[in-house]
Amino acid sequence: MTDHTQTLSLLLRMIRSGQSVTRPDLGRRTGLGRTVITQRVDHAIRAGLVTEGEPAPSTGGRPSRVLRMASGRGLVLGAVFGASHLHAAVTDIDGTVLADRRLARDVESGPEACAATLFEVSEELLDGGLAERLWGVCVGVPGPVDFVRGTAVRPPIMPGWHGFPFRERLEAHYEVPAWVDNDANLMALGAWNRTRARAGDNILLVKASTGIGLGVISRGRLHRGARGAAGDLGHTIVAEESRHRCRCGKFGCLEAFAGGPALVRDARAAALAGRSPFLAERLERPSVPLDVTDVVDGCLADDPVSVELVTRAGELVGAQLATLVSVLNPSTVYLAGRLAQAGEVFRRPVAEVVARRSLPLAVDELVVAEVGLDRFEGVIGAAALAVDELLRPDMLGRWLPHGDPRGTRAPRGEFDDFAEPFHLDPPSP
Ligand SMILES: [Zn+2]
Repeated sequence: MTDHTQTLSLLLRMIRSGQSVTRPDLGRRTGLGRTVITQRVDHAIRAGLVTEGEPAPSTGGRPSRVLRMASGRGLVLGAVFGASHLHAAVTDIDGTVLADRRLARDVESGPEACAATLFEVSEELLDGGLAERLWGVCVGVPGPVDFVRGTAVRPPIMPGWHGFPFRERLEAHYEVPAWVDNDANLMALGAWNRTRARAGDNILLVKASTGIGLGVISRGRLHRGARGAAGDLGHTIVAEESRHRCRCGKFGCLEAFAGGPALVRDARAAALAGRSPFLAERLERPSVPLDVTDVVDGCLADDPVSVELVTRAGELVGAQLATLVSVLNPSTVYLAGRLAQAGEVFRRPVAEVVARRSLPLAVDELVVAEVGLDRFEGVIGAAALAVDELLRPDMLGRWLPHGDPRGTRAPRGEFDDFAEPFHLDPPSP
């Protein structure tokens, strides 16, 4: 990899972050000379990666033009599998969503069936000549992922996925570089990309649906840990002596009390015991099994048993989160997934337990909030990850000489979490 590619990669990522948007900005922040900046930026413009916009507010002298990531050339496909659905979107490399689709698909049906569904959906999304502009693909799955190998590792709710070379499958089909990551990681990345200005660079995102996952953004970077297992909140133990066996095989996991199937188990018991007319009615529907969505609906309809179950789940999640808040000191905790759709019924107990159990300095300004109602975090995070990876120096060096990344594969090397040569903090005044 050349020095040219290294600095080009750095400048592209600074432009993409929106923190340095003119040539003089880039010079001030990197210490690189004007000639080097001009050469690299011109290269990026010729390559169709960056465009020049309107003149920036002048600080004296000749005004510089605003630089931003180009739209209209490369596209990426971001997709996320939940336990029972798929959401896929095509975005520009500047992050704009061009088209998206949601549909039902059980992740339990196995990797081949899921891949087939994704291929079908993406063909529709990329119809009309967009397929020729596809530069990269990133797919999230609801389980632990070895990010280097691009494969799920012993995922508790995904039979048949362990060791399946999902990234190879994606690259063979699309003939562009592909990445696979955990769904909560991608949702955290998407939430951070969308709300960075107010949420800050240290955030946690809890996804509470069928499983309970966690994504960690630390100083503006996704924290995957040594092997990619970071954030596996659902299988932390909340009750050592418990008789509730979790789907992972252990006893007493958070998921065995606060995950979707646990709530359905308790909701069914309450309905059968005559404690909740609302849940009893849902239980009696022919051929539609009781689901965690019914419990969330119960909360919205003020069913006391549903409220009690989701409140209890919120307290348990909050207790595990409190430890993380003390260790990691985030500025924002986002709640996502189906339990978050219960609104305050879930958010309030999480926030109260976190506040009660953490140090004042860690919680004084901590925001605990629902991530939002449009549920686009996952696909936006997946697309952002693909663009981030395409712009890494090692990756850029592989494809830039050919004009675009088509026909290139993602590196299989050691996972180094990318040693940043230059930290993207705001400049000191
Ligand atoms: Zn477990």
